[in-house]
Amino acid sequence: MKFDKATFKRTPESGLTTPEIAARTTQFGTNELVAARPVPLWRKIWQHMSDVSSLVLLFAVGLATYLALAQNGGWTKTIVIGTILIINVVIGLYQEASAEKALAALKSMSLPTANVRRNGDAQTIAATAIVPGDLVLLKAGDQVPADAVVLEGSNLAIDEAVLTGESEPVEKTAYTQNTTPESELVYAGTAVTAGTGLIQVLTTGMATELGQIAGLLNKTKQRATPLQGRLNRLSSWLTSFAVLGGITIFALSVWAQNQGIGDSLMIGVSLAVAAVPETLPIIVTISLSHGVRRMADRNAIMRRVSAVETIGSVDVIASDKTGTLTQNRMTITKYWTPENGAEKADAPLSFGGKQLMRYLGLATNAEINHVNGEEQSIGDATELAAVRWLAAHQLTRAALEVDAPRISEDPFDSTKKMMTTVHRLPDGRQLVVVKGAWDRLPFKTDEDSLVAGQAAHDAFGEAALRVLAVGYKIVPQDADSSDWATLNADLNLAGLVGLIDPPRPEVFTAIKDAKRAGIMPVMITGDHLVTASAIAREIGILTGDYRAVSGEQLRALSDTELAAQIEQIAVYARVSPSDKIRIVQAWQGRGKTVAMTGDGVNDAPALKAADVGIAMGITGTEVSKGAADMVLTDDNFATIIAAVKEGRTVYQNIIKAVEFLVGVNFAQIFLMVGAVLFSWGAPLLAEQLLIINVLADGIPGFFISQEPGEPAAMQQSPVANDESILARGLGQRLLVRAATFTVLTLGIYAFGRFGLTNNQAPVGMTMVFLVLALGSMIDIYAIKDRRSMSWATFKRNPLLNRGLVAGILVVLAIATLPPLRNFFSLTALPALGWGVVLVGVVIPTIVLEINKRWQRRQRPVTELEIAD
Ligand code: ADP
Ligand code: MG
Repeated sequence: MKFDKATFKRTPESGLTTPEIAARTTQFGTNELVAARPVPLWRKIWQHMSDVSSLVLLFAVGLATYLALAQNGGWTKTIVIGTILIINVVIGLYQEASAEKALAALKSMSLPTANVRRNGDAQTIAATAIVPGDLVLLKAGDQVPADAVVLEGSNLAIDEAVLTGESEPVEKTAYTQNTTPESELVYAGTAVTAGTGLIQVLTTGMATELGQIAGLLNKTKQRATPLQGRLNRLSSWLTSFAVLGGITIFALSVWAQNQGIGDSLMIGVSLAVAAVPETLPIIVTISLSHGVRRMADRNAIMRRVSAVETIGSVDVIASDKTGTLTQNRMTITKYWTPENGAEKADAPLSFGGKQLMRYLGLATNAEINHVNGEEQSIGDATELAAVRWLAAHQLTRAALEVDAPRISEDPFDSTKKMMTTVHRLPDGRQLVVVKGAWDRLPFKTDEDSLVAGQAAHDAFGEAALRVLAVGYKIVPQDADSSDWATLNADLNLAGLVGLIDPPRPEVFTAIKDAKRAGIMPVMITGDHLVTASAIAREIGILTGDYRAVSGEQLRALSDTELAAQIEQIAVYARVSPSDKIRIVQAWQGRGKTVAMTGDGVNDAPALKAADVGIAMGITGTEVSKGAADMVLTDDNFATIIAAVKEGRTVYQNIIKAVEFLVGVNFAQIFLMVGAVLFSWGAPLLAEQLLIINVLADGIPGFFISQEPGEPAAMQQSPVANDESILARGLGQRLLVRAATFTVLTLGIYAFGRFGLTNNQAPVGMTMVFLVLALGSMIDIYAIKDRRSMSWATFKRNPLLNRGLVAGILVVLAIATLPPLRNFFSLTALPALGWGVVLVGVVIPTIVLEINKRWQRRQRPVTELEIAD
């Protein structure tokens, strides 16, 4: 980025005006890293035409046309196959478009925001709306939205690792004639780690440094998710099988039956097309995008589609306590002072209590304002509790600061766990107030109330209270008010306050649900071990043999020691953000899939390292959201569990689609090959096979992604990373279904041709057509419910019902309306024929139902692996 001080024009203090913004948006566009250019329609059509099954169909159309010309008539095949080819491409385009729409909506939900000054007002806008010249306010935790020059900076430090790989933050200061680009410029995508600043935007979007890199990144293709990978392997395996089936039937029909090469080729090709589950990849995409939408409805915004799948298979959810497991509405309920001991916070204050409150109030930054009768709070929950305590005793921070104005501040951070303020006393001396974690405050060694303080601290902690210790000292008038090493030492103990932060009411059930689903919930907090353990016990995280460890104990463990113990540790107390990444890695080392929550800038590395990084929508920083895979709009632990359930539903629906699409395809191959081996000739014609394929695969397969989750989804252990797609009985179910349809259709054909009539092949053909088409449509009901079928099975997915009714009507029309019937080379059936068809159609459903019960008896443990 070029920044020329000589020609630089500063935007006025009040920021850009509306007309200026409009003009610049037109000139420079939006502040987005534009994804690759949209693919034109013709190219999309071309992509669909060029996949294997379309090419084979295209070949079949050519072949059919040739045969029709050569044999002078018989255009049926050309028309049917041509229509099917068009339908396939249109459906493919439609489904792709609907998935893309869902994803675009998703993208707009997770847009980062920025604080700007425009038209004289401070406002929060979507970062994409920023234009060159905008004045942007930065604070710790923000992501720099565009390349810019620093106009004002106080302790502004920026992590530029995304661009430079250097993780040490760079200090930035307001530009002057003498400053260098290193210190005066900030770049899009980098993270503010400390301080505040005002910047003026120079370039946006693809013109930024990040945009230059993104231009390269756009060219790299997205990687398939593990499930997509597994399905791709399954698909290619099935495709080879289908091709092999096609070749076999071609060869058999030429040699064993002396059919013409052209007709044999036709049936071979059609079989191959029918047997390839070409809808599978599309069903996966639709199911994932459905999952994304349902998760958004439940307050979980996915930033990566593949996370939909990963969240469903997590083994461990490591969650922050404060604000995620608890309500983040803190209240001071008790306090303790050396003078007066422990007292209730809502009673009239003792002398010691008044002193403690005064100190605490001074070392607080939070504010509560009343705007039009509405309470507006600024600041973190711990400090708001202090402000409320003051208010309850008719005091305000401003009133306290009249006598002791603040000179300087050493802000709180979750690594050192304390904060310090320095104040000028009326007599000129300086008052130092420190508040923070009891075991971090540097008290005087000869402070004789420390023993009593420790006892009070532990008693508060055991009552699940978060404890804030307050210390103070008075230093001479000329002491250096920013020499923190000296100021943060030798404190007098003013006292302790105990804050209650009640668990979120939904968390109790959520934890139980997690455990039942084979997921281990883990609590992470900066609070003391005693407090953390008390809350963890209350909400059911710390039970049985599980342990709680402190950050200190954690740091004393080597990586191997940690790996050996990790599965027993349910609570980590007094940890710093940097400890989180070790926890993630230790679990991953054991082959587990880990979800981890975080809200601060320092949490970003752990969020990236986790399999699913989860950021907080309300309290989270922009940086943590940028690093996350999922953002909780309500900051609530229970939402994570809801997302797990949706993720598992998506996975199960995909598995159901596999079960539905694959079994019958095998049966079709076996039927054709079997019939030829019995010297019966082809029991189905190419166009019949293809129309069955479109109706019976396409309709139910498409609507299965709408299937709501089953309760059992949350009563199974998570899918392991290396688990085969055929695990949990799927392989067996596929075999049973394939065998059922093979035997059934061969039997029906034989009955129709030889039993019912005297060697009338069209009767057998019509019956097989009906049984195969209808039977493989309605058995979706047995497949879609892992429980036994009931009335509810039919009510759960109305769209599917409608689709099926339509499909069944089409099949019946083909078999009964004379013009259609002739077109598809079918014939009228005698009443008994219809009776047999009716029975045959329900047989697969019945067999699958019985098999379901049998499987449940065989493998009850895997189906209902209750971890509690
Ligand atoms: P958590 O991750 O659970 O929110 P933190 O790291 O924020 O934990 O806080 C840990 C400890 O630091 C608390 O137990 C409290 O003693 C202290 N603390 C928390 N917030 C503040 C604050 N704003 N000022 C001073 N001390 C704080
Ligand atoms: Mg905190």
